[in-house]
Amino acid sequence: MRYISTRGQSPALPFCDILLGGLAPDGGLYLPERYPVVSRAELDAWRGLSYADLALAILSKYIDDIPAADLKMLLDQTYTAETYGFTRKGEVAADITPLYWLEKGRLALLELSNGPTLAFKDMAMQLLGNLFEYVLEKRGETINILGATSGDTGSAAEYAMRGKHQIKVFMLSPHGKMSAFQRAQMYALQEANIFNIAVTGMFDDAQDVVKAVFNDAKFKAKYKIGAVNSINWARVLAQIVYYFKGYFAATRSNDQQVAFGVPSGNFGNICAGHIARRMGLPISQLVLATNENDVLDEFFKTGVYRPRSSRETYVTSSPSMDISRASNFERFVFDLVERDSVVVRELWARVERGEAFDLSGTPYASRLSGFAFTSGRSTHADRLATIKSAYERYGVTIDPHTADGLNVAEAHPQPADVPLLVLETAQAAKFAETLRIALGHEPERPAALTGLESLPQKVEVMAADAETIKAYIARHA
Ligand SMILES: *Cc1c(COP(=O)(O)O)cnc(C)c1O
Repeated sequence: MRYISTRGQSPALPFCDILLGGLAPDGGLYLPERYPVVSRAELDAWRGLSYADLALAILSKYIDDIPAADLKMLLDQTYTAETYGFTRKGEVAADITPLYWLEKGRLALLELSNGPTLAFKDMAMQLLGNLFEYVLEKRGETINILGATSGDTGSAAEYAMRGKHQIKVFMLSPHGKMSAFQRAQMYALQEANIFNIAVTGMFDDAQDVVKAVFNDAKFKAKYKIGAVNSINWARVLAQIVYYFKGYFAATRSNDQQVAFGVPSGNFGNICAGHIARRMGLPISQLVLATNENDVLDEFFKTGVYRPRSSRETYVTSSPSMDISRASNFERFVFDLVERDSVVVRELWARVERGEAFDLSGTPYASRLSGFAFTSGRSTHADRLATIKSAYERYGVTIDPHTADGLNVAEAHPQPADVPLLVLETAQAAKFAETLRIALGHEPERPAALTGLESLPQKVEVMAADAETIKAYIARHA
């Protein structure tokens, strides 16, 4: 299997050659040259597999430059009950992504947030850590990962890369701006290869410093600076697995259909659902939920994609969905325009000029119905009401992002024989402040994380200045 760029002007490469990079050289995103189609016989055989074995069956179709025995070892090492055992109720989740029925046979949460940072980003990031280590070791290379985080991505990356040979992580966070829980999660890591840098300023200032360092091509090459952002293909690939796992858990036979409700920001999670459907998984509908930052809802309702400026981007109580442009969306549009990279280049030339594009009235708009998407938007008031009603109706405490997903999903009723699975993208314990407003009390947290805030912390405070950060990396890389 080789990987091609959505912009069509980069050479096709095997998996390991695109694993460590970000964008393709032509500015596009990598996708497999075709989606492997799963036969009915395979689907039947996969139904009883463990998470790690199911991941092996799916990933083997996309990765042919890692020997099968090695890939199996990496997956067995990644998807363990210890790593994904931070369940709310303190039970060990041997099936990694347990299904939690709210209404038996009709409505369920697919728990994706039992990993070490209590957000679904762990599902893919833990695998990325093991894949990076494996490939770097084989090639005798090293990497220095540089990123900026406002919470979820940075901590997931650090927990995935902690203690890994040949990898160092330099993670910038806005000094004093994250919750006490988020700070403790990252800064309590004592591994020598993890460098927490709290910069004075806001998240955008941290992000600007990272951009400035990446733009210094000489520095970037000399210190082998890399990223683990959401456009990384391996992250999307790893996420395909739990759509299959959730489908098998919710159904008895492969004749049945299911629908998924997906809280969305950068379109990474739901892009994996789109690909699972293209592979032949019987998904009747993908229900995309946004918060007040509704650039994706607008597209699926009107055919207009209108990325926003940062001035038009709201700070909301589901912060991991506060995006102004959806970085993975280009992958979906590539499929929608029948993989015509000339069209993608033209559309994204507009996006890069800060302009919108409109597919309504084009032949592509009529193709859209064949992709089984529907969408909705959820506000702060909706979120609070959904958290409260889920608690009262089902006795379950959900986080604000999952609440957006559930709220929008419930506005799209499914036929009686089609279960609707809402992806639980984080645990409520991460967002105690919002939960207190919605419920009047704080959410419980997994027993293993009690006292997290009182552990010793390792962090250095610095100015949000690219030269300062470069000098720090040069001393520690
Ligand atoms: C990242 C994140 C999302 C958005 O996922 P995308 O893949 O960017 O669409 C939703 N909820 C939580 C809790 C997240 O951390």
